[in-house]
Amino acid sequence: MSVPLLDVNAQNRPLEAELKDVFAKVLATGRFILGEEVEAFERECAQYIGAKHAISISSGTDAILVALMALEIGAGDEVLCPSFTFFATAGCISRSGAVPVFCDVREDDFTIDLAAAAKLITPKTKAIMPVHLFGQCCDMDAIRAFADEHKLIVIEDAAQSIGATFKGVQCGNFGEVACFSFFPSKNLGGFGDGGLVTTNNDALAEKILKLRNHGMHPRYYHQMVGGNFRMDALQCALLRVKLRHLDSYAEGRARNAAWYAANLPLPEGCKAPAALENRGHVWNQFTLRIAGEGRRDAFKQHLAERGIGCEIYYPVPLHQQECFADLPASDCPVSEALSREVLSIPVYPELVQAQLDEVALAVAAFAS
Ligand SMILES: *Cc1c(COP(=O)(O)O)cnc(C)c1O
Repeated sequence: MSVPLLDVNAQNRPLEAELKDVFAKVLATGRFILGEEVEAFERECAQYIGAKHAISISSGTDAILVALMALEIGAGDEVLCPSFTFFATAGCISRSGAVPVFCDVREDDFTIDLAAAAKLITPKTKAIMPVHLFGQCCDMDAIRAFADEHKLIVIEDAAQSIGATFKGVQCGNFGEVACFSFFPSKNLGGFGDGGLVTTNNDALAEKILKLRNHGMHPRYYHQMVGGNFRMDALQCALLRVKLRHLDSYAEGRARNAAWYAANLPLPEGCKAPAALENRGHVWNQFTLRIAGEGRRDAFKQHLAERGIGCEIYYPVPLHQQECFADLPASDCPVSEALSREVLSIPVYPELVQAQLDEVALAVAAFAS
């Protein structure tokens, strides 16, 4: 039995009839841009996350970009972000005209290290973009205190972590603005690209609504230069169906992570991830850390040969990416070590016991 890293069909198949109904309904309305389904999805997301405003956006990447545009972060500004994250975090900072300043990450949860960040503050530092990595919130007490001390705007990159909590509060409520993704591999996985921003700031929400639609208000009058950052009505309608199951998906992921924690016969020098105190982890990834020269790569090959899906998130930290070669050098030893040592294994909610057993067997075969 092979175990893929992710099986979107296993999740969508039980919803097939309902999804087809919803598709047919939107098809019949002939209304594909903005409108009722979009507004309903946004209302339901705001309610789920517990934020005042939720605005659907064309992708998680565009959500970050439009958030930066709305906050008027751009040329002359610096934005602190972790080096160990998906590219979009820093790519959007760069595209806004601002400079991404790469900070190292913590050993315990792989999120931005504030001691490292403190050394990188300059008069140009305008914002900090913590990333809730792999389904676990950053320590938002520490980040809020840091941001207040240095007068920084907080933009949460919550793309991987919808539903994750810190001290019982969901991510999406800690920053000036937060950005989510519905890329199919995220916890609320869509049928194509999609994203969301949340904010509790009325004026900012209004600005993002305009920026999403060419800065236009009213029709054909442009107060600012926006773009087309709209999410399709069809996508919103389909995701409304899946949003109702998001808690049960998170429970399934947590169940699998707990099973691994109790039953994976980890090889020497291999560490399993853990939920830290005060965090409600939603386990977008279950990421092992395997120390020792070349051992992670050997482990990856071993699992792949046994039909266990696995992937390296992320093989190159952002401060070492070619496109950022012109930026000042960064000192991120933890990020560099992680890029050599991490390996994510299947944790998606539809895994069945036989598949978990299969993963454990394959892991054991490497350990011996
Ligand atoms: C997926 C992801 C994004 C981008 O989301 P898309 O919807 O793929 O554009 C941004 N940041 C992080 C940390 C992500 O994992």
